[in-house]
Amino acid sequence: MKKIKQNIKQNISGDSVIGNLRAKLRFSRENGQIWLHEHRMLLVHADSHSHMRRELIETLGMERARGLFMRLGFASGASDYELTHISPEVTNEYEAFMAGPLLYTLEGLMKVTITKLELDRKTGKAYIESICENSWEAEGHLRHFGESSEGVCWNLIGYASGYTSAFMGRSILYKEIECFANGAKHCFVIGKPVEEWEDACDFKHFMNRESIADQLRGLQTQVVQLRSAIGEKKLPSDIVGKSPAFLAAFELLTQAAGSSITVLLQGETGVGKEVFARSLHDNPIKSS
Ligand SMILES: [Zn+2]
Repeated sequence: MKKIKQNIKQNISGDSVIGNLRAKLRFSRENGQIWLHEHRMLLVHADSHSHMRRELIETLGMERARGLFMRLGFASGASDYELTHISPEVTNEYEAFMAGPLLYTLEGLMKVTITKLELDRKTGKAYIESICENSWEAEGHLRHFGESSEGVCWNLIGYASGYTSAFMGRSILYKEIECFANGAKHCFVIGKPVEEWEDACDFKHFMNRESIADQLRGLQTQVVQLRSAIGEKKLPSDIVGKSPAFLAAFELLTQAAGSSITVLLQGETGVGKEVFARSLHDNPIKSS
C-alpha cells in the first residue's frame, strides 16, 4: 500500500500508461470500425448522448435513468478492466490500476485525477479519492435541467465501481461527494468496499435491472380487475354477468337510465332482454 502511494507522486501524469493505451487504438477505415486492442469502440457525439440522457430522464424518471446509466458505466468499467489488465507493459499495481482512470479520460468522458489511492489486492483493502473535471454528464445535465441538488455523474459512478470491482475482485462502490452540476468547482468521488458504506443499500438497488414491461403488464391486469370489480358492484341483484360484452351492454344501459332517450333492446330469446328492460323501467341506476 505504501508503495502505491509513493508511485502516485512519482508518476502522477500516467504518461507511459496513456502512451500504451493510445498505441492500441486503431481506426479501420476499410471496415468502418474503431478498435481499442480487441474491443470494438464507438466515437459518438456528446450532444446526442446528452439528448438521449434527457429523453430517458423525461420518459423513465430520474431514478430509473440513474440506474440505467450506472449499469451502463459499470459494464464499461468491467470491459475496460478486461482490456487493460492484460497489458504486458504494466510493471506495478499503480500502473495496473491507473489504466482504468486514464482510459476513461482518453475516451473523452472527463478528466480523472486520482488524489488518494490505497489498494491491496491481497487483503482486499481499497480506498480511492478522485477529482473529476469536464464531466460530459454534468455539462449535459446543467444544459438541459439546470443546477442539480445532488450528483448527476451516474455513468462515472458506475464505471469507477465496475472497473475497481473487477480490479479488486470484490464489490467496490463509489459515491459522488461533490458534483460540478451541484455548483462545485469539480466533481469529487470516493470509492471503497460496498460494506463500508453505511447507506450502501440506497445505491445497490440501482445496479439491479427492473423490467418496466413487466410492471406495465401488472398494472394493466390490475386495471382490468378493478374495472371488473366496479362493474360487478353496479349490477342489481337480479342481473348476473361477467363477460366483457355483457358488461359493455350494461354500461350502455347505465348511461341510458340517466337520460330520457328511447331504448330498443334486441337479442335472441333467452339472453335476458326482459331483465334489462325491467331494470331500465325500475330505474334503480343513476348515471355517474
Ligand atoms: Zn459530477
